[in-house]
Amino acid sequence: MTPTVVILGRPNVGKSTLFNRLAQRRIAIVDDTPGVTRDRKEAPARIAGRDVTLVDTAGLEEAPPDTVAGRMRSSSEAALRAADLVLFVVDVRAGLTPADRAFAAWLRRASLPVLLIANKAEGRGGIAAALEAYELGLGDPIAVSAEHNEGLGVLHEAVAEALGEAPEEDEEPAEDDPERPLRLAIVGRPNAGKSTLLNALIGQERTITGPEPGLTRDAITVQWRDETGGRVRLVDTAGMRKKARIEEKLEQMSVASTLGALKEAEVVVLVVDALLGMDEQDLRIARLAEREGRAVVIAFNKWDAVEDRPGTRQKLDDVLTASLAQMRGVAVVTLSAQTGRGLDRLMPAVRATYALWNRRIPTGELNRWFESALTRHPPPAVNGRRVKLRYATMTKARPPTITVFGTRAEEIPEEYRRYLVNSFREAFTMPGVPIRLQLRGTR
Ligand code: GDP
Ligand code: GDP
Repeated sequence: MTPTVVILGRPNVGKSTLFNRLAQRRIAIVDDTPGVTRDRKEAPARIAGRDVTLVDTAGLEEAPPDTVAGRMRSSSEAALRAADLVLFVVDVRAGLTPADRAFAAWLRRASLPVLLIANKAEGRGGIAAALEAYELGLGDPIAVSAEHNEGLGVLHEAVAEALGEAPEEDEEPAEDDPERPLRLAIVGRPNAGKSTLLNALIGQERTITGPEPGLTRDAITVQWRDETGGRVRLVDTAGMRKKARIEEKLEQMSVASTLGALKEAEVVVLVVDALLGMDEQDLRIARLAEREGRAVVIAFNKWDAVEDRPGTRQKLDDVLTASLAQMRGVAVVTLSAQTGRGLDRLMPAVRATYALWNRRIPTGELNRWFESALTRHPPPAVNGRRVKLRYATMTKARPPTITVFGTRAEEIPEEYRRYLVNSFREAFTMPGVPIRLQLRGTR
């Protein structure tokens, strides 16, 4: 088990900045607007040679539980219970506040292993300012500047020391290891129901959804076991935020991270609002996923609120046929993230598509298909010269990649390529899986 290191502190002390710095990857969105970073985020990190899971929490505010801030607090407390080490962050520029003191007292009572991080201690005078934090009674403050990358070496050493010896070298499980998490991305346009779906899937309050606009605009990463017992890791949830009230800067970063999520994912669940139907935006995301070679499952959400179900479904099928031919037969799961109806069919569909995406077809079997495909429809001549295709092999899975060898193979027209891909998809029933076809000329 990799130890879990949780970053805590009141809003604006620089938790997200520190998180990004330690995770060495831009995951959280940092902004001066208070409350921009509201969700728990997790990321793998390597601290002083040790693999850890880093968790950023929402601000720990004292607030009644029926408000957003209150729900964030309970979400932070859940994070704390799983912590092997807490990095408690204070802002030396702002100085200690009553909230800092209250949390320090809470941490002392809970007797959790804590490192006190005095952030924004850059430049001259920074370390002196950090000394004030001694009075919190949480040991020596570690003076850092997350933003200016100062003092991080000392922090790394302190974390390594606090965590003790690493037990065994833990490696990324092999591709066929059943314990290896399936990397899933939930994507879709704002308001499609991505956050609601995620919460329903993981069955606990890890992200916060609600009617308040501006929530969950951030990217987060979580891991859980689905009902089959298999592990799932959500790689990113960019775009899981409301469109309203988002400045351009945030918007751009989130678009970039949607692409980032697609790149990291194996299976993509495209959440489509069934009340609105599949539109250009949805299609664009689907095509992007296909281009990145990802397996796709469509979650046709808000099914509870759809009146004309057969008609709505027919319209979706028409759009898919007309505009997404390269994903013919893609799995569509009609569900309601809100009521949970149909939800139990989503992960099995994800697993099934994943299995196809991983499938390796033996060369003999592949070439029996290849020969019959060529017989049924021989390749056209190119510039009056005959194209002779000899054999095919599956050079890669994830996504399935077929390489066809033959004289002037690389010259065959696009239309014939498409024929081969479609014929392959049909012969080996691979709906929703992108197929790659490579052509290699031989002499
Ligand atoms: P969070 O709410 O605790 O996650 O805080 P953020 O990471 O979003 O940071 C809040 C603000 O403090 C942002 O404007 C950061 O740029 C700024 N900040 C973070 N770290 C430092 C630091 O080391 N020095 C200074 N001067 N500002 C910082
Ligand atoms: P996101 O922006 O994609 O993360 O969307 P949210 O999960 O925040 O959901 C957007 C809105 O749709 C919220 O008001 C949800 O309550 C609502 N919603 C989500 N799922 C469903 C559903 O299955 N049925 C209905 N009727 N509404 C839903």
